[in-house]
Amino acid sequence: MNEYDSNRIYDFAKKINYFKTENLKEVDCYVLNTCHIREKATEKVYHDIGRIKKKFKNKKKPIVVVTGCVAQAEGEILLDKEKYIDAVIGPQSYHDFNKTILKIEKNSKKINSTHFDVIEKFDNLNLIKNSSNKVSSFLTVQEGCDKFCKFCVVPYTRGAEYSRSIQELYNECKNLVDNGVKEITLLGQNVNAYNFKGKKLSDLIKEISDIKKLERIRYTTSHPVDFSEDLIELYKVSNKLMPLIHLPVQSGSNYILRKMNRNHTVEEYLDLIERLKKINPLVKFSSDFIIGYPGETDKDFNKTLELLKRVEFINSYSFIYSPRPGTPASKMEEVKSDLSKERLIIFQKTAEEIKTKYKKSLFNKKVKVLFENKVKNDESFFGRDEYQNPVIAKSNENLQGKIKEVNIINGNSNTLFGEEIRKTDRENCAA
Ligand code: SAH
Ligand code: SF4
Repeated sequence: MNEYDSNRIYDFAKKINYFKTENLKEVDCYVLNTCHIREKATEKVYHDIGRIKKKFKNKKKPIVVVTGCVAQAEGEILLDKEKYIDAVIGPQSYHDFNKTILKIEKNSKKINSTHFDVIEKFDNLNLIKNSSNKVSSFLTVQEGCDKFCKFCVVPYTRGAEYSRSIQELYNECKNLVDNGVKEITLLGQNVNAYNFKGKKLSDLIKEISDIKKLERIRYTTSHPVDFSEDLIELYKVSNKLMPLIHLPVQSGSNYILRKMNRNHTVEEYLDLIERLKKINPLVKFSSDFIIGYPGETDKDFNKTLELLKRVEFINSYSFIYSPRPGTPASKMEEVKSDLSKERLIIFQKTAEEIKTKYKKSLFNKKVKVLFENKVKNDESFFGRDEYQNPVIAKSNENLQGKIKEVNIINGNSNTLFGEEIRKTDRENCAA
């Protein structure tokens, strides 16, 4: 979501003649767009500002703005502690960006803009075209969260759940497709809780599927509890909805899930997976895991490992539990850091083995790849198959923005390498 937000902040900034540059010498303004989901984010901000300070030691000071969830969570503290920062802007008030910059240009008063104006933000965003033209682009459809998992800062930094209207999303989507976008990932902290006047995520997906040149639709991140029947049904009929489902489970232990306030059991999670597979046997899953949550015993951890092996997630993102200020879990007794680290290593080794086995199973198979860009200094193109596996294929034809069948020759645990199956090859095969 920060990538979407950064692009949209830039869409605003261009209106007051601020443009991106890679030439650091000519920078007039730095925007540090931050994430607060795990620790170290705040330290990173101070660290980055230290580097900027050094660079501009004997020069005119650039404007420095901290945006995003660290700004939201630590606004006033940041301004007090680091005088080099001119403004903090929270994720629900970045429509104030231009106003803020213009004020700073005029006088040097510090500005704290961290109010929750999500409706006003999107009203303002709707007035400014989304200029993204990447083959695969993001689109925020829902923000905030009402679930209050005990470890999570999102409900405090992004605020309450809010869904944008189907009409504005259709328009933004159409505009992106007109820019050349072929794949859209619908974003939300709790995307399958999307609800605009009774219209659900499945309705939104159906609506945008009508945009002819839009080839692929993905969404992230969904919560198991909000996976309603209509969304499951869509996997039977939609040919644009991709078959990889990111479904964070966090833990394989019912005791820990309860302590996290996730509101479902492991059995209910597995049942959901079975129902999805039954509706469409091609679906596969990826997930997020928190290792070393307060109270996690060896037994709980082993249950998480068991679940990992049982579902064979093709991608697993695992994080050591990180206490976040203000959350209920931050008051619970922590698992010893060495033990958490040990568990994380075991978990990641197993996840990697599953992933490698899966990637190997694709060798000598055909996959459909949407190519995103040319590989630098090489006659190859980079793209992703339907399961988001990165694929590189040689070609002297420009494949950017095209979907091609590729025969996978080899690969490693990350990237697959293949050859485009040309029409003539296919005809030869048929003959
Ligand atoms: N809404 C999504 C998750 C959004 S946060 C869901 O409910 O699944 C993205 C991921 O960051 C989470 O899935 C979780 O695995 C991780 N995460 C969030 N807070 C964390 C914390 N305090 N410590 C460690 N990992 C955390
Ligand atoms: Fe955070 Fe996701 Fe839980 Fe919401 S559902 S509180 S975003 S982990």
